[in-house]
Amino acid sequence: MDSKQPPPYSEQAGFTPAQTYQPGGPTQPPMYPPMPQPQQPSTVIIQTTTTSNLVPIGSEPTRICCPSCHAEVVTTVKSTPSSRTHCWALVMCLLICWPCVCLPYCMDSCQNANHYCPNCSAYIGTYEN
Ligand SMILES: [Zn+2]
Repeated sequence: MDSKQPPPYSEQAGFTPAQTYQPGGPTQPPMYPPMPQPQQPSTVIIQTTTTSNLVPIGSEPTRICCPSCHAEVVTTVKSTPSSRTHCWALVMCLLICWPCVCLPYCMDSCQNANHYCPNCSAYIGTYEN
């Protein structure tokens, strides 16, 4: 009876051998599947298109407070051809007739109105037709 060998260590009831600890050995951390790291955009620069129209201006000279010299002035308007003007010119050229090409450049309604301060000649804004 006594000569019976004890069962192997690992087979003792309720005992499960732990992982053998190797002193000095590099303990490898359990390998987890690589987590898909959501690409965090570091800096989101939302470029709000700041229109230069700080004050409501139209195509006509407007009484405003100049942001540059802070004087209450009536803006000086200079009409400049916008991309739309060139578009119209092209349309005129292609569809209608040549002499009409210059029409959009003569019509203020087809051009941008640049407002300038008469006091300090600062650029105030553009009214796009
Ligand atoms: Zn001014």
